Amino acid sequence: MFKSVLLASAALIVAMPSLAQPVISATRISQDIRVVSSDAYAGRGITTPAEQKTIDFLTKGFAAAGFEPGGPDGKWTQDVHLRQFKVVDPKVNLAFADGSTLDLRQGEEITVSTRGTTSDVSFAKTPIVFVGYGVTAPERGWDDFKGVDVRGKIIVVLINDPDFPEPTLNTFNGKAMTYYGRWTYKYEEAARRGAAGVMIIHDADAASYGWATVKNSNTGPKFDIVRPDPSATSPKLESWISLDTAQKLFAASGQDLGALRVAARSKDFKPVELSATLNGSYKVNATEIVTRNVIARLPGTSRPDETIVYGGHWDHLGTGTPDADGDAIFNGAVDNGTGIAALLELARTYGKGPKPQRSVVMIAFTAEESGLLGSEYYASNPVYPLSKTVAGINMDALNVSGRTRDVAVTGYGQSSLEDMLKLYAAGQNRTVVPEPTPEAGGFFRSDHFPFVKRGVPMLDAHSGDDMVKGGVAAGRAAHEDYEEKRYHQANDEWSAKWDLSGMVEDVTLYYRIGYALANSDLWPTWRDSSEFKAARDKTAAERK
Ligand SMILES: [Zn+2]
Repeated sequence: MFKSVLLASAALIVAMPSLAQPVISATRISQDIRVVSSDAYAGRGITTPAEQKTIDFLTKGFAAAGFEPGGPDGKWTQDVHLRQFKVVDPKVNLAFADGSTLDLRQGEEITVSTRGTTSDVSFAKTPIVFVGYGVTAPERGWDDFKGVDVRGKIIVVLINDPDFPEPTLNTFNGKAMTYYGRWTYKYEEAARRGAAGVMIIHDADAASYGWATVKNSNTGPKFDIVRPDPSATSPKLESWISLDTAQKLFAASGQDLGALRVAARSKDFKPVELSATLNGSYKVNATEIVTRNVIARLPGTSRPDETIVYGGHWDHLGTGTPDADGDAIFNGAVDNGTGIAALLELARTYGKGPKPQRSVVMIAFTAEESGLLGSEYYASNPVYPLSKTVAGINMDALNVSGRTRDVAVTGYGQSSLEDMLKLYAAGQNRTVVPEPTPEAGGFFRSDHFPFVKRGVPMLDAHSGDDMVKGGVAAGRAAHEDYEEKRYHQANDEWSAKWDLSGMVEDVTLYYRIGYALANSDLWPTWRDSSEFKAARDKTAAERK
C-alpha cells in the first residue's frame, strides 16, 4: 500500500499545478489568534458567555471564506450534551481472608470515579481479579483474560502495555505506547466484559505522571458525553490505586506483585483471583450541560458524500485562580488559539482555490480540555458518516517559535497518511520523525483520537525540535519554556514577538495533504500492525 499511495500522491502533484503555492498568511493567523486569546474572550471556557462570542467569531470567518453551515439541520453548530459526575464522600475498603480490612481514602490510597447513571453505587464482597495489563489484542494474538469470566468483579490492571518495562520484547511496539496502554482502554475493555469495576495500579514511569496528577484529575467532577448506554463504555467503578496500596492488596492476598508484574509481560499470563473483596458505597451527583461544536463545510463538486476533516478545539480553561501577576484569565493563545486560526486560514485557502471534488469539513471542537468530549460527541454522533470520512488532520497547539527541519508525528507508524506527509515535507526540505516521547501516548490525547478509535485515519503532527535557527537545542528549549511558563497557565498569551514561519509551513503541509485527498479517490489505510485497522475494515464495503 505504501508504494501505491506514494505514487498516486506523486502523480497528483504533477497533475495539479494549481496546488503549487497555497498562500498561508502569518499576518492573518496572528491577527486571529490575537482576537480569540484577548481578555475579551475570557479564556474561552465552555458554557460561559465566551462560548457564544467564540462561535460568532468562527462562523463569521467560515462564512466569509465561502464555507456553508456544516452542522445538523443546516446550522453552524452541533449541540454537545455532556454529563458531569461528582462522587460524594466515597467510603470503600478492602476486606481480606483473615478478617482484616484496609480503608481506601479518596485521593490517598485510591481515586474513585463513576460515569454511569446510577446515583447510588455500592459494593458488597465484590471479588477482585488481577488480569495483568487487561489487554485483548486479536491482531497480536494476545488475550490477558484467557476466558476467565470477570462479570460483576473488580479487575486490577497494570498501566501501559506489556512490553513497556521490557521494550526489547517488542510485543507492543517497544517503548511506544499502544492504545492498550491507556487508562481509557482499560475501562472500555472492562465494560465490554461486564466487570463491575477497574483498579489501575499506578506507576509513575509507566503512566508518565505521578500520583498527584492521578489525584488531581480523578477526585474532582468528571465529564462524559451523554450516551444512550453508559455501561457499554464505562464500568461502575473507575479507579486508580497507589503502588503502595497495590503492594498491600497483593501481599495480604498471599501474592507477589513483583513476580506477577513480570509474568504479565508474557502471552501465557493467566488471571489471578485475589483473596480480597471490595466493600463500601457512595453517591454520585450528575448534572447535564450543553455546549457546541462549530462545523463548516465546503461541499465536494463530484463526490460530496466523501469527507476530509480538519479539526481543532476552540475551548480552553476559562478563568481561574490569579497568578503572581494577578492574571486570572487563561487566554489559551497557543492552546488552542493557534488551532482556531489555522482552521480559519485553511478555510480561506480552500475558499479561494479550485473547488475540491470531495467535501472539506472544518470542525472547531468544544470541551477538549474536559477530556476530548466535543470530538468524542461528534464521533459518536457524526454529521457525515465516518465510514466515508476519508481522513482527518488535527491541529492542537501549533508552533510559534520559527521554522524547523523536521515534522514530528504522534502515533508514528500507524497509517499511510505519513507517506503523504513525507512527500510534501520533502518539498519543504523537511523530514518526518516520530514524536520524541511515544511512551506518553500522545496519539491518544487530542481530538483526532475519537475518530481514530472508530477507524478513521487521522494525522496529528507538530513542528519537530530541530529548528532552522539553533537546531535541536533551541527547539527543546522552546518546548521546555512553553511547558514550564505557559502551558495551561494564565501566561499562554499572544505575542508580537512570535515567529509564525514554522506554523505557516505546517499549515501549508496540512493544506496540501487535504487538497490531494480531496481531489483523488485515495483512501488512506492503517498499517497491518495497527490496533485501529480492524475498526476500519468493518466498513470496507461502503468505500467501494
Ligand atoms: Zn489543546
